[in-house]
Amino acid sequence: MVVPYKHEPFTDFTLEANQKEMHQALKKVEADLGKEYPLIINGERITTEDKIVSVNPANKEEVVGYVSKANQELAEQAMKVADSTFETWRKSDPKFRADVLFRAAAIVRRRRHEFTAHLVKEGGKPWKEADADTAEAIDFMEYYGRQMLQFKDGSEINSRPIEYNQFHYIPLGVGVVISPWNFLFAIMAGTTVAAMVTGNTVLLKPASATPVIAYKFMEVLEEAGLPAGVINYIPGSGSEVGDYLVDHPRTRFVSFTGSRDVGTRIFERAAKVHSGQKWLKRTIIEMGGKDTIVVDNEADLELAAQSIVQSAFGFSGQKCSACSRAVIHEDVYDQVKDRVVELTKELSVGDPASNKHFMGPVIDQGAYDKILSYVEIGKKEGELLAGGEGDDSKGWFVNPTVFGDVDPEARIMQEEIFGPVVGLTKAKSFDHAIEIANNTEYGLTGAVITNNRVHQEKAREDFHVGNLYFNRGCTAAIVGYQPFGGFNMSGTDSKAGGPDYLIHHMQGKTTSEMF
Ligand code: GLU
Repeated sequence: MVVPYKHEPFTDFTLEANQKEMHQALKKVEADLGKEYPLIINGERITTEDKIVSVNPANKEEVVGYVSKANQELAEQAMKVADSTFETWRKSDPKFRADVLFRAAAIVRRRRHEFTAHLVKEGGKPWKEADADTAEAIDFMEYYGRQMLQFKDGSEINSRPIEYNQFHYIPLGVGVVISPWNFLFAIMAGTTVAAMVTGNTVLLKPASATPVIAYKFMEVLEEAGLPAGVINYIPGSGSEVGDYLVDHPRTRFVSFTGSRDVGTRIFERAAKVHSGQKWLKRTIIEMGGKDTIVVDNEADLELAAQSIVQSAFGFSGQKCSACSRAVIHEDVYDQVKDRVVELTKELSVGDPASNKHFMGPVIDQGAYDKILSYVEIGKKEGELLAGGEGDDSKGWFVNPTVFGDVDPEARIMQEEIFGPVVGLTKAKSFDHAIEIANNTEYGLTGAVITNNRVHQEKAREDFHVGNLYFNRGCTAAIVGYQPFGGFNMSGTDSKAGGPDYLIHHMQGKTTSEMF
């Protein structure tokens, strides 16, 4: 028996004792910087000449690690291992697999600040955001472990007196997991362990910006008793290794979280049946968002402004759940706008390791350039009310940026920027606000700030997003409490951290016996 699932509490960094521990953890992580990390195939460490260099986005000179880079030959080797390991792993006891996760969660919990400190360095996350990322990684392991224990006995079905019918889930095969850099620990761990605990074998290709955390996680899983070959760690480039594995006839499913461009590319490629392939590949795809907070005229306006600012600028807006648009009833537009601008101007930006700033850097030069190019577009499409500048001399820092009076069809209101930029627009009525909120190709998160129950119920029915929040911000879903995933071009709505997530990694088998 295991105790019921409960999410991992966050660390209170206002307490001096916790601050001290975190500073110590950062020192420990700093001593580890610049190390080399090999690939892991069948438990064996393989070092390659070609390396991915993981740098601290707050300080480009600081190398977090040099990570061996897989090529197609090594990807093929890993595929063969995963394919043959599947023959034994598929028959492993689900309880054994869940136990690996419970032990791994315990190991991470014990070394929590060390992991958090690593996320500060490799992901450029402020302490609070990094701590939440570590907590979520623990949650995914605890939650999916328990889910598997529920699924292992199958579901109840009917049998007539002359027969004995059973229904249960079996694993799929080899899964390719391609994870993102923004929740470099939580989503990487969550997508990997969901595939593993359901009895599949895994080829893990972490984001090239943040491969070291995935290596550290591999070490945790090994310590927790995961047999060799079940999860193989093969960082590499998307065009070389990613495409090769997505196309591979022995790939049974692909679990991807990342950009819409890459997600749709994977979806198309995975649909093609290659020679020697004897199944239709499954895809579990989570992509972007253009997430909106709607503010009604009957609403707590301070809550509205706080929710917009927190959701737009937490982790520099680099969440697919981030608020990048606020649609505000015209009666209260000026009040909300002024307060959003005031709160934004109070935010400081700087090195997250110091714990002195609300916002850290953005992930890399590509992100920095893209965000600033959207800021230029925004200057033509709306009124720049705050921010609008960047500084990439030491790290990739962009000021929190607010544009006012933007047309709902403008590019900055339609295209995902994935940075600290929010556009404000006016609505004539609540219905009009919902209409605007639904006018993108995405459908991930949204929030409605209102005290009007009728409006709330209308939004519940008509605001077409996978995660809809009332009177709060639109980020920070918790595993097992707010299953996370979106509609339309946001992905397959596979609901990470939800009760049916694991089923996407399995197939149902019916057996019927006559007697
Ligand atoms: N689950 C996260 C949240 O609710 C976002 C995940 C993502 O950005 O991919 O904020």
